[in-house]
Amino acid sequence: MRLQLLMTRLLTICFAATLAAGCSRDAAPPADGSAGAPAATDQAEMTTAAEHDEYSYAEPDKVRTEDLALQLDVDFDNRQLTGTATYTLDWLDEDATQLVLDTRDLSIEKVVGERSDGRWEDLEYELADADENLGSKLTIEAPQRSSRIRVTYATSPDASGLQWLTPAMTEGGETPFMFSQSQQIHARSWVPVQDTTRVRFTYTANVTAPDDVMVLMSADNDPDAARDGTYSFEMPQPIPSYLLAIAAGDLVFEPISERAGVWAEPAAVEAAVAEFADTEKMIQVTEELYGPYRWGRYDLLILPPSFPYGGMENPRLSFITPTVIVGDQSLVALIAHELAHSWSGNLVTFSTSNDAWLNEGITSYVENRIVEELYGKARADMENVIGRNELAVEFEEIDPSLQRLALKPGTLDDPDGSSSATVYTKGAWFMQFLEQRFGRETFDAFLRGYFDHFAFQSIPTTKFIEYTKAHLLEPNPGIVSAAELEEWIYEPGIPDNAPQTDSPRFNAVDTARAAWLDDGTVPAQSLTSEWTTQEWVHFLEGMPETLSIEQLDALDDAYGFTGTPNGELAQRWYPLAVRSGYTQANDAIAEFLVDIGRRKLIMPTYAALVQTPEGLQLAEETFAEARPGYHPITTGSVEAVIAEAKQAPAQ
Ligand SMILES: [Zn+2]
Repeated sequence: MRLQLLMTRLLTICFAATLAAGCSRDAAPPADGSAGAPAATDQAEMTTAAEHDEYSYAEPDKVRTEDLALQLDVDFDNRQLTGTATYTLDWLDEDATQLVLDTRDLSIEKVVGERSDGRWEDLEYELADADENLGSKLTIEAPQRSSRIRVTYATSPDASGLQWLTPAMTEGGETPFMFSQSQQIHARSWVPVQDTTRVRFTYTANVTAPDDVMVLMSADNDPDAARDGTYSFEMPQPIPSYLLAIAAGDLVFEPISERAGVWAEPAAVEAAVAEFADTEKMIQVTEELYGPYRWGRYDLLILPPSFPYGGMENPRLSFITPTVIVGDQSLVALIAHELAHSWSGNLVTFSTSNDAWLNEGITSYVENRIVEELYGKARADMENVIGRNELAVEFEEIDPSLQRLALKPGTLDDPDGSSSATVYTKGAWFMQFLEQRFGRETFDAFLRGYFDHFAFQSIPTTKFIEYTKAHLLEPNPGIVSAAELEEWIYEPGIPDNAPQTDSPRFNAVDTARAAWLDDGTVPAQSLTSEWTTQEWVHFLEGMPETLSIEQLDALDDAYGFTGTPNGELAQRWYPLAVRSGYTQANDAIAEFLVDIGRRKLIMPTYAALVQTPEGLQLAEETFAEARPGYHPITTGSVEAVIAEAKQAPAQ
């Protein structure tokens, strides 16, 4: 997923939705005879990592979910999903007689198990008191070791993994909207589940909803599906629980290619198709580098502006923020990122959240390679520089324990609290280091082999190290030592051997900014007309902490930053305006914070506002207005910043 990076690195959550519902041939067969989706029954042998997942109560070494069958009703009036989840189970431990599931804020109505004679009988169960971070452990007694168990349940209106939007909060204004965000551990708030990446399962779903609402899932979505309120889905490739996803609203489909397309509200679909027209090319480029796309269709779902992240790599249907639709394709690295997760993350998955860099770091590296292939090295370099500048800022503030790629168990209470600079940017930088040392040809072949070798498995960092030593370091001796490899993974900070990137285009921006600061000559339009979002971001990021009102006025006159529709510029301009006391921007700031719910874009402005009593007041007033449209994840972040400021009032 893409959380907080800048342009290229938004939070990526990738989801791929397939069209051909019910057609299992839709699952992309491997083109080269390498591993395709394994039978779910093979997964126990394949997932050899005996790592404990501290963020799940599940006991996957005793019993594992092989398949999940959902029967759900989407109830907008009560902001609730209700229905059943049926698990097909593989009892691994012959002494095991309990199924332990993760839940959060679920009402459990009934649990039944299938007997050997095919009848279903009630099972005893216990729902434990909720843990603040992990939710409630659901322990089901299954003395007969039922091969199928079914839980009847309902979600809470405040489920952490669901957002419910009234019609007024949508683009069209007439139909309500809901969507899920399961990563890291929010699937348990809408499905009782073994909520750990150590378990992969196939799934099916039958979903009912109001007649005028289209429902999509991280499965085989059908572009031609009739909108009748009844939908069926099948996901034939085994996935971990964080890739379970659902969305419902006034959604229509437009194709980009035979296997790729856009789902969006009718008013948004055309602009999205134009912005993301290169999606098919991205798939082809990635296939050339790393082997076939194995998930069938690759579609994009454009969410409302309240989506708290940049994107989420839900298989077959990436969930995408609309804030990257800026008209010039300058922010489509987000799509490259979500797509890249179809290899790193969805195909080869970290086995616990402490190894999140395996998903995000390798994905961010692949993303940058896709950007370079399609848009050239200059753009890829600019995105690297922006990411590394952010990393430098973040590493000044965060604890060294969070700067390790592989986190020590116990570092985080909540797996959502990892450092994006570490898992995304440092992780990608590590990959770039290996690429630079071994050369592209060798490293590309290695990475492709890694994806094939661990396809449809969840692995810990230790497996990555073992594989890398055996298939990269040892066959190419004397290039990278084991100690260098381990320094990148286990030590805080960035090793001295990290490759540096020079961006001539940013150097030109630096020169233009310096001239303006020196004598007030704004960069000429002949220069800035060539600038993309990346250059503008760099222009603003290099500004002093504060500017004079006259200077801000001059920039606004020349470039119209206040009120910009580009969130990447807004998230840098508004904090600068706030710090400088440029109150002329206050109305536009309030409008921006109300319209957009993507955390990365709005948090810097909230953080700047709360530094002064007047700013804090504006932040609180604006938050009160914006809050009904924010996702619970965003609400939590804003509340925390405001609460902290009130505890230690600004001087
Ligand atoms: Zn990601």
